[in-house]
Amino acid sequence: MNCSSQEVRRILEQHDRIVLTAHVSPDGDAIGSLLAMQEWLEGLGKEVVVAVDDDIDDKFFFLPLAEQIRRPDQVQTDASWLTVVLDATGMDRIGAADALAKGKVLNIDHHISNLHFADWEYVRTDCAATGEILTELLADWQAEFSPSMANALYMAIATDCGFFKFSNTTGHTLRMAALLVEAGAQPNVVSEHLEARSLAKLQALSEVLRHIELFGEGQVACLSFTPELLQYTGEHTGSYIDYIRTIQGVDVAFTVKYVGPEETRVSLRSKRADVNAVASVFGGGGHVRAAGCTVAAPLEEAKKMIVKELLKVK
Ligand code: 5GP
Ligand code: MN
Ligand code: MN
Repeated sequence: MNCSSQEVRRILEQHDRIVLTAHVSPDGDAIGSLLAMQEWLEGLGKEVVVAVDDDIDDKFFFLPLAEQIRRPDQVQTDASWLTVVLDATGMDRIGAADALAKGKVLNIDHHISNLHFADWEYVRTDCAATGEILTELLADWQAEFSPSMANALYMAIATDCGFFKFSNTTGHTLRMAALLVEAGAQPNVVSEHLEARSLAKLQALSEVLRHIELFGEGQVACLSFTPELLQYTGEHTGSYIDYIRTIQGVDVAFTVKYVGPEETRVSLRSKRADVNAVASVFGGGGHVRAAGCTVAAPLEEAKKMIVKELLKVK
């Protein structure tokens, strides 16, 4: 059921124990949204646990509480707990955290491919980030934004709109960011922490850039994270796609990453083409200009399958 802002507030207020979760491979929007909600709900005296079924990239550890995010198997819940699923389209996106949802589920999300799966939902595809939705909700509820909540929400918004460069950046996105800065968010601190990389990681870039391939007369750029390349980069490869999307003439950038012999993780970004449609062909989703999926095929084959679909929508 789609809720109003006040209904969302009432649902949260009616539950004393709340588990917060978000999608696997949590990004800045997922982490920032979780931590801001945690802080606000704890301020209301709720018992709150935050659980994500994945590693947390240590670049997020500048936010207080980020290191305390737990794995689902470290948490016990029962049917009295409300589960709040943030920044995720369905229960299939939260991995083993689905086992924690023994009671009611509230979903707050902004993806166009949302599956409308929860008991209650607040889905706003007009927002660039879940953090943008939460900022509006909290402001509507006259909540007090502490500087750490403001920083977490600012990070959530900024990372999902490419620091206000992507086409999902609206006047509303900027107004919510402005509100957060006025509440104590520090754009320079957030950027500094998210941009910081080890020397090894920076040097890995030169190796990564040697692996760029172009298709469709230069309109499609691809990077393949083979097990060999992953030895240079480590598992957190999400930021490399931003380099190849800037190549002149490229509309769609995508990466394929080895997960297993028959499992390949795909990320897609575009300036014009509908990559949500392409990801949906493989059971994934996301947004029109940023989407992802997991393909049950070896890396090289998955890459060819994606290129084939992309050339259809070009
Ligand atoms: P990323 O490439 O950063 O993993 O994902 C880009 C966008 O697509 C994000 O908003 C992410 O939540 C969404 N997304 C990525 N993979 C999947 C997937 O397998 N299923 C769905 N429904 N959405 C995905
Ligand atoms: Mn996300
Ligand atoms: Mn998001």
